[in-house]
Amino acid sequence: MDFASLGLSENIVKAVNEAGYTEATDVQAAAIPAALAGKDLIVSSQTGSGKTAAFMLPSLQRLTAEPVIKARGPRVLVLTPTRELAVQVTEAAKGYGKHMRYAKAVSVVGGMPYPVQNKLLTSPYEILVATPGRLMDQMNRGRIDFSRLEVLILDEADRMLDMGFVDDIEAIVAALPKDRQTLFFSATVDGQVARMMQRMLKDPERIEI
Ligand code: AMP
Repeated sequence: MDFASLGLSENIVKAVNEAGYTEATDVQAAAIPAALAGKDLIVSSQTGSGKTAAFMLPSLQRLTAEPVIKARGPRVLVLTPTRELAVQVTEAAKGYGKHMRYAKAVSVVGGMPYPVQNKLLTSPYEILVATPGRLMDQMNRGRIDFSRLEVLILDEADRMLDMGFVDDIEAIVAALPKDRQTLFFSATVDGQVARMMQRMLKDPERIEI
């Protein structure tokens, strides 16, 4: 299936094609139309399946519409377990959003000097990719306004829980608007992961690849 047939707009399809991809992977073909329809999703798929584009492309498409609330702060938040993954996701967002006017992506991860991060967070941006520990830290310093947040994405949720981020994730989610879309990606979806999903998702569609 090509990307335009999944319902993605021309400027996004163009960027995806320029990245060298013309056919959607299985997880993309299943997740993109459901996410564009505004559904919450639980997606169990492995790294290498093309999951990053599966959540980033429909989230970018939302950014083509004017935000309801005019504020600073993210419209899309992606939580990842590691700094390396956050950097990859940020780069993917920049690449897929390169033909869009309002799709600036920034990352907030441990190890980055605070002055650099603070500067990023005070310029306008739409997409925030973060590891939970550093994000909590910046939230506690009052540096992030979530009032216009529309989409929350948990990437590799099971790994985040294994790394002990459960309390941070709970506190972050509690600070987000209730009226949002949540896309939950995890290789495994049992035990502690399942309990977290139940609290976070509304009538989710389940996609297993
Ligand atoms: P991910 O599962 O998101 O880590 O992606 C795994 C790899 O697949 C990355 O190198 C992507 O750039 C690549 N990829 C993503 N979507 C596609 C696609 N539709 N066709 C071919 N490769 C893709």
